[in-house]
Amino acid sequence: MPLAYDDQNIFARILRGEIPNNTVAETEFTLAFNDISAQAPVHVLVVPKGAYTCHDDFMANASDEEILDFTRLTARIIADKGLSPGQGGEGYRVIGNAGRDGVQEVPHYHLHILGGRPLGRMLEKG
Ligand code: AMP
Repeated sequence: MPLAYDDQNIFARILRGEIPNNTVAETEFTLAFNDISAQAPVHVLVVPKGAYTCHDDFMANASDEEILDFTRLTARIIADKGLSPGQGGEGYRVIGNAGRDGVQEVPHYHLHILGGRPLGRMLEKG
């Protein structure tokens, strides 16, 4: 049984324009904005406009157009922020948290783009 989508989650409210955001980029299907509690000099959230809960839900149920738009916009932001190691940048990390074990705070699918400082190892042993 898939997790039901809660349309009162904070990103749904941002997408409806009920709460302000610090927009980095916007396309027909995707909105990207700065994380309110940045954990690195670059901390951008990339959010599909459709009602998807997490990565597997988005990849299984979104249209090809939505997925392409989302993935291309993520790459464009990485390039625009000067993070791409292929273009002289120092690198970055893309994170998608899901569910309880993934410690997902906001139940609307999003990716975090983090960069601008050394980010340490991926996970603490745990
Ligand atoms: P996650 O744990 O992957 O669901 O991450 C949710 C992220 O959303 C956290 O990094 C929060 O700091 C961020 N966040 C929560 N509310 C807002 C908001 N109103 N504007 C921007 N970022 C937010």
